[in-house]
Amino acid sequence: MARIFCIANQKGGVGKTTTTVNLAAGLAKVGQRVLMVDLDPQGNATMGSGVDKRQLTTSIYDVLLEGSTVAEARVRSDKLAEAGCSYDVLGANRDLAGAEVELVDVERRERRLQAALAAVSPEYDFILIDCPPSLSMLTLNGLCCAHGVLVPMQCEYFALEGLTDLVNTIKQVRANLNKELAVIGLLRVMYDPRITLQQQVSEQLKAHFADKVFDTVIPRNVRLAEAPSYGVPGVVFDPSSKGALAYLAFAQELVDRIGSLQAP
Ligand code: ADP
Ligand code: MG
Repeated sequence: MARIFCIANQKGGVGKTTTTVNLAAGLAKVGQRVLMVDLDPQGNATMGSGVDKRQLTTSIYDVLLEGSTVAEARVRSDKLAEAGCSYDVLGANRDLAGAEVELVDVERRERRLQAALAAVSPEYDFILIDCPPSLSMLTLNGLCCAHGVLVPMQCEYFALEGLTDLVNTIKQVRANLNKELAVIGLLRVMYDPRITLQQQVSEQLKAHFADKVFDTVIPRNVRLAEAPSYGVPGVVFDPSSKGALAYLAFAQELVDRIGSLQAP
């Protein structure tokens, strides 16, 4: 069965999508079978995985609301296959923006994604879910079916404050909907060690959250920001760039951590 992780942080622009697509590609590169689920109507993770969101005939919207199966809706980009970093994509586009409202009247509305993923879970080692920048019904669908949450964050002044809301939401979901849900770890992203404030916040994070903070740090690196316009993750676009190497190291750290979690 796949390990299912949400990449979540209710703030926008903190590196969720960049983390999702680069982790997906990084895990694929070390031989893991990966499904990437785009839960954000912006469809950035879809586009950043080489899949044109405007050309999707079946998307996650159809899976959540129209009874389509994941097997019918998933796609795979040739560009990633050529690079040896291939993973399946359950894509999103603007249709998904309506799902938030439409789900309100649906039975077991927060468990739609869980039900859909159950059928394909045995085919994967990892399912990564790119969440929208909100603690909405879509994010709730992700949290309901996940084993854990990966939280990318910038080491800035308000970072810790935002984290409290997310941690409280995760606690509530654990109490009411999904007792398996755990915070797997906090990932420091867009890190610039020359900025004293970032060093200080990074130290605070480690003081508060100890081993919940991943050892790998993702630096600010322009190659990661350029990659989406070529429709590939940074680890495919420029594998030797600092950003790509950091995400590859992160993929390995995660695999190691999961291994140690599963040990008796
Ligand atoms: P989110 O999904 O949380 O909204 P994104 O992953 O889309 O955040 O990142 C926001 C912006 O920052 C994007 O333009 C992205 O290319 C850029 N970005 C993300 N991570 C890095 C990084 N490590 N270095 C430089 N730019 C980054
Ligand atoms: Mg995003």
